[in-house]
Amino acid sequence: MKRFADKVVVITGAGSGLGLATAQRLADEQATLVLVDLREDWLEAARNSLPVGTNATIFRADVSQLAEVEAYVDAAVAAHGRIDGFFNNAGIEGRQNLTEQFGAEEFHRVISVNLDGVFYGMASVLKVMRAQGSGAIVNTASVGGIRGVGNQSGYAASKHGVVGLTRNSAVEYGCYGIQINAIAPGAIMTAMVEGSLRQIGGEDWEEAGRQFVSVNPMKRFGKPEEVAALVAFLLSGEAAFINGATIPIDGGQSYKY
Ligand code: NAD
Repeated sequence: MKRFADKVVVITGAGSGLGLATAQRLADEQATLVLVDLREDWLEAARNSLPVGTNATIFRADVSQLAEVEAYVDAAVAAHGRIDGFFNNAGIEGRQNLTEQFGAEEFHRVISVNLDGVFYGMASVLKVMRAQGSGAIVNTASVGGIRGVGNQSGYAASKHGVVGLTRNSAVEYGCYGIQINAIAPGAIMTAMVEGSLRQIGGEDWEEAGRQFVSVNPMKRFGKPEEVAALVAFLLSGEAAFINGATIPIDGGQSYKY
């Protein structure tokens, strides 16, 4: 499939995990890519992992800083004249703790990346998409944005906020030919999930992982490429009447009683 041959797509958090897997999937479908991440070394490795001939530029930015978000959006428009797809994905988990011990500083740190970052990204990209009269956005929420997980005050607040922002902006911008959806991944094996399991299980984190997936209907972690396939569908134009949705991708775990 070459659904992205004439599309420019911006991906945040492109240096690792879900963002990287999506960059690789979209490059296979001939997208022109703008890859954004906090880590320039990871961005360079990401670009080097793409098929020869891929048109991919990299941009180091902290998504929690509005000026840096505006700068990556301006750079994408300066380079390519348009933004057809936006995977608004960068995020952090934060330290796990009970609510009373979570701490205001940690709470605001997680919110600033996961919620401010997603809002700044949408606000900046939507100006471009409204002017061009088309576009598709996928925001990365989480199962932690549609269910209570525990020990994740900052993450829960930020990801529930991403679901709310998605619905609100989808209602506003559908009339301009723009779709805005969110994905709610369960446990997908990336650096973030390994970090989370290490917080739970320490040196025995792999055993913690086995226990974690034992209650999943599919008895396994998700794969980044499975999330990339969903994001590609939502950004491809084939999903043109899906708008305002938050789509779980979790092996069915969030539906289980
Ligand atoms: P990851 O840690 O592998 O990748 C996250 C990327 O975001 C990294 O490259 C990191 O450098 C970048 N990043 C972090 N803070 C940033 C900032 N301030 N500015 C710019 N870039 C920044 O994690 P992942 O699992 O790929 O997570 C991607 C998204 O998916 C996150 O929003 C996460 O909350 C969400 N998510 C992941 C899972 C999972 O199971 N992996 C589940 C639900 C939701």
